[in-house]
Amino acid sequence: MANQNPKNLPGLNTRAIHHGKSFASETGTVMPPIFPSSTFMHGNPEGFDYTRSGNPNFRILESLLSSIEVCKFSSVFASGVSAITAIASTLKSGDLVLCEENLYGCTVRLFEKVFEKFGIRTQWVDFTTPEALNTIKTIKPAMVWLESPTNPLLKIIDIKEVCEVASSGGIPVVVDNTFSTPIIQRPLELGATLSLTSTTKYINGHSDALGGAICTHDKLWQERLCFAQKALGLQPSPFDCWLITRGIKTLPLRLERQVANAAAIADELAKHPRVNWIRYPFRSDHPQQAIAKKQMQSGGGIITARVNGDAKDTYLFCKALKHFTMAESLGGIESLVCHPATMTHASVDSEMKKHLGIDENLVRFSIGCEDLSDLIDDLNQAFAQTK
Ligand SMILES: *Cc1c(COP(=O)(O)O)cnc(C)c1O
Repeated sequence: MANQNPKNLPGLNTRAIHHGKSFASETGTVMPPIFPSSTFMHGNPEGFDYTRSGNPNFRILESLLSSIEVCKFSSVFASGVSAITAIASTLKSGDLVLCEENLYGCTVRLFEKVFEKFGIRTQWVDFTTPEALNTIKTIKPAMVWLESPTNPLLKIIDIKEVCEVASSGGIPVVVDNTFSTPIIQRPLELGATLSLTSTTKYINGHSDALGGAICTHDKLWQERLCFAQKALGLQPSPFDCWLITRGIKTLPLRLERQVANAAAIADELAKHPRVNWIRYPFRSDHPQQAIAKKQMQSGGGIITARVNGDAKDTYLFCKALKHFTMAESLGGIESLVCHPATMTHASVDSEMKKHLGIDENLVRFSIGCEDLSDLIDDLNQAFAQTK
């Protein structure tokens, strides 16, 4: 398991709560102010010039993210998709990106519908198979792109193993760490070049702002990403950065409750006669439990279950829940339920859905911070209503 507190730093809760510099020494303000200014007087001591290329609220958030990820640099963006765009924009025509076949749908769409037009090619493999490692060696891609756990089947990829093979060929590895956050998994420690997060999800945690972030130890990559931020206009708003900064302060606390709830609900669901099977990374029935335990601090807050019955029963079950809102997204303090086949993965063609194992009976839960007994009662009443 990853060391929660490397290099003798203060503990994770302390690092998440103390945001460092707040640019307000004259007032003694405890919370950082919001700096909505689009421009800054030339020659100011902090070197700000124009908010598209930097702002005090970006810098406060970046220093917090670097502190919890334990990395040298981080850069912030308007959304997770903006962060993905920033990385993809560093590629050139003819480059090939070797991607995990079950990436987040909007990442797939960006590569296939946008960057393909600029000559960037993709190849899709199942990174849980040994052949995928050979593919890295034989095709020598310009970049490797992973996600672990994957959405919605929570497949676990051995990040360290992939990074070792890729780095021996000098190939950068991007890990989309949105489902885990650096509290649960730190890809840079496992050898990744870039650790990307949609801060919209767990990091902000209150479903009221969008954001993305990329962490790295590599100065050259940081320069490329800052260039993309200003050249492509991918910067976040100061207000959203301020909200996300506030959100991070309770991230370790929120996750503690979410993970405890999720682990207990996973066990309840697994016993339920209306459930065929469930996926939860730390359960012994998960096919890659050993890898999960090696690289993750806990099993996380997402559970995927296959409900028995037909597609209509599954849909009715989702709608019959009272404490779980049926909605896209994840990671907030409120519990959500999602029907991947018709929601997050609606745009994936049916052959691919079948290949990935996403069928009409699959349900994905993002477990929130509510009382565990209320969530369990809710699941039981929804099953009872839709028998
Ligand atoms: C939501 C999500 C994104 C995209 O983030 P946005 O902030 O919605 O743009 C990227 N990757 C994963 C795994 C996500 O869940």
